[in-house]
Amino acid sequence: MKKRVLVTGASRGIGRAIAERLRGQGYDVVTHSVRSEGTDLRFDIADREACRAAIEADIAANGSYYGVVLNAGIADDNAFPALSGEQWDRVLRTDLDGFYNVLKPIVMPMVSARSQGRIIAISSVSGVVGNRGQVNYSAAKAGIIGAVKALAVELAKRSITVNCIAPGVIETDMIKDIPAEEVKKAIPMRRFGRCEEVASLAAYLMSEEAGYITRQVISINGGLC
Ligand code: NAD
Repeated sequence: MKKRVLVTGASRGIGRAIAERLRGQGYDVVTHSVRSEGTDLRFDIADREACRAAIEADIAANGSYYGVVLNAGIADDNAFPALSGEQWDRVLRTDLDGFYNVLKPIVMPMVSARSQGRIIAISSVSGVVGNRGQVNYSAAKAGIIGAVKALAVELAKRSITVNCIAPGVIETDMIKDIPAEEVKKAIPMRRFGRCEEVASLAAYLMSEEAGYITRQVISINGGLC
């Protein structure tokens, strides 16, 4: 039977590339987005009750997930003196609370299935080293790293691996407003990453071959840090 894998934020960008790659490798991929964007599931990851209802219904109808890629996320940048409480709350509620809201209904069915498992969270270079104008986003993405490391310890005995991918600057809608040529100068490889490159790493972490990798943050950033 095909392994069921949920990819959040799979309507575009990195999430879509990961979903396509995993589908190509024979996984039964369940796609998700925030709005009606042609995905299997739709809910706001900041809405705990909506996450619970949609995920529990899918698991009841189709079975537990072997893997999950927590990819959905937002940024809302501003220099700290101008960063509003609303910007802080929205990014923390979406990117960090989303980790809890999506995983909570998934983990116990995954454990009960006794068929190992894979949890991959998309953090960011901003969560590893911090980034100007992204105090809110860096806090949320660093929080995900802490959560992943703790959960990895809890789930290790069940052979469920829990890891972070920390991308640098990847060509997607999220970076459309940055000064591209200036940013590239700071990247040793002098280019942005491609969604497919992140998807390759996610596919490896999802594979059986990666079964002894857990509690790790794996960067993919062209040498940025
Ligand atoms: P994107 O904006 O192209 O896509 C974001 C996806 O997340 C979409 O499918 C959208 O529907 C979903 N989403 C957004 N808000 C949501 C919400 N409240 N509830 C449910 N779904 C929601 O973004 P991307 O560049 O592909 O980024 C994907 C992930 O990678 C994000 O977590 C982002 O923080 C992270 N990341 C991106 C970069 C980059 O340079 N693009 C770098 C590091 C990390």
